[in-house]
Amino acid sequence: KQGLMAGKRGLIMGLANDKSIAWGIARAVADAGAELAFSYQGDALKKRVDPLAAQLGSTLVLPCDVSDEASIDALFTTLRQDWGSLDFVVHAIGFSDKDQLRGRYADTTRDNFLMTMDISVYSFTAVARHASAMMPDGGSLLTLTYYGAERVMPHYNVMGVAKAALEASVRYLAEDLGKDGIRVNAISAGPIKTLAASGIGDFRYIMKWNELNSPLRRNVTTEDVGNSALYLLSPLGAGVTGETHHVDAGYHVVGMKAVDAPDI
Ligand code: NAD
Repeated sequence: KQGLMAGKRGLIMGLANDKSIAWGIARAVADAGAELAFSYQGDALKKRVDPLAAQLGSTLVLPCDVSDEASIDALFTTLRQDWGSLDFVVHAIGFSDKDQLRGRYADTTRDNFLMTMDISVYSFTAVARHASAMMPDGGSLLTLTYYGAERVMPHYNVMGVAKAALEASVRYLAEDLGKDGIRVNAISAGPIKTLAASGIGDFRYIMKWNELNSPLRRNVTTEDVGNSALYLLSPLGAGVTGETHHVDAGYHVVGMKAVDAPDI
């Protein structure tokens, strides 16, 4: 994969620590020669993100709270000043009140519903609009989703509803931006132990279930997601847009296990 991303500049949004899916993706594209900028949310994360960015030779580490339009504006204004143009963006951001990532979806409050949709769905549309204005030669946008968008998964609740809307917005954005040579895709990742995932009820059990029931009989890693992201962000994925690509050890194709499946 060496050289695949040579000369390409990309923004990685959503790096919190070295367990983040954003980190798996950043390493894969940096290994392939991409030059990276990072955005982080809040001062507390800056001290974690700075050294990780430095490991990949990046010095452009910028604050951005995606719930704040002015903050998104400021991020892209700085990027435009420093780089002029952009080739790809990775949006690895989601958020909901963790008290509502357990119990019943029916009990979701209006405030948390709106906040979850704002941060986890609308932000990708806002980012796509800003980023596409900096992509005169085309580009690639990528977001992260989960199977809870398609089927009911325990405790995923309002985040499942948000991911369904995110996947729909990937399709609409693909149509809007396709004529400018900009591709828009999502990776539907299997469960991975990250900071965000630790807010989801019974997450260990969900991971065990996935490991026992997926065709590959294992969970995926951030490296697996990174390598698939490289395909979608690079010229290897040139013919692919509007797609939700599953990187989940095949879990989404299974309806029911045969009786000789391992005990669960
Ligand atoms: P993570 O905690 O490492 O990353 C989540 C990121 O979202 C953090 O960096 C956080 O700062 C950022 N964020 C939250 N609110 C924000 C805001 N208002 N403004 C800017 N940034 C904000 O966890 P992760 O699991 O790597 O999550 C990345 C993406 O992957 C999310 O969209 C998540 O839903 C998705 N995903 C995760 C899994 C999993 O099992 N971990 C599976 C499928 C999809």
